[in-house]
Amino acid sequence: MSHNCFISFKKEDEYYKKEILEKLGADRIKGRSLDKWIESEDIDYIMQVIRSQYMKNTSVTLFLIGKHSSENEGFEYSSEDNCYYNKQNFIIRELKATFYDGKGNRRSGLLGIVLPDMYDAIYGGSYICSHCGEKINTVRINSQTVIREFSENYYLSPNCESGHCDESGRFCVLVKYDDFIKNPDKYIDKAFDKTNAEINKKVHWKDINHTYKK
Ligand SMILES: [Zn+2]
Repeated sequence: MSHNCFISFKKEDEYYKKEILEKLGADRIKGRSLDKWIESEDIDYIMQVIRSQYMKNTSVTLFLIGKHSSENEGFEYSSEDNCYYNKQNFIIRELKATFYDGKGNRRSGLLGIVLPDMYDAIYGGSYICSHCGEKINTVRINSQTVIREFSENYYLSPNCESGHCDESGRFCVLVKYDDFIKNPDKYIDKAFDKTNAEINKKVHWKDINHTYKK
């Protein structure tokens, strides 16, 4: 069974969003990007609105990881509102809503697609871990490269105290754009299957706080 997808992306990466849409077909890519701030103290209410109005009928979120997808992207001044907004306001909520599994909503899988611009920043060589002696491939998934909802659920259940995980310790799935576009369903299925795996029980997002406005 093929899974319908929601795409979370920054406007700078719209080109890749269009390419993916063309590859998978418009009937597989559902929903629309978050375009307004839902004001409420009730996080469950906010999540339900996003799931039902923006992400309806999707079960995997494709998170495009480009140059502007990081936790450390910073703030943007709005002269209209006379304050600064977190540039990641919307994608943070899109990823939180992906993880939401409350009333009437099943958690979606999360597939991070590393765009070509970011290959060098994310993928390094390999090293021998000084704690466990295993050979580890360097994958820089951290606040320099992605928002924390992704990084904290990627290195979710480390099997070494230095923090690296094998596949069973990750909820988020990561793939290079070039590999994804050759065989998208292989990776979409892998992300979906995580929602039925043991690691699904460890996913967390409500406790990840950000400054949204200052
Ligand atoms: Zn280790």
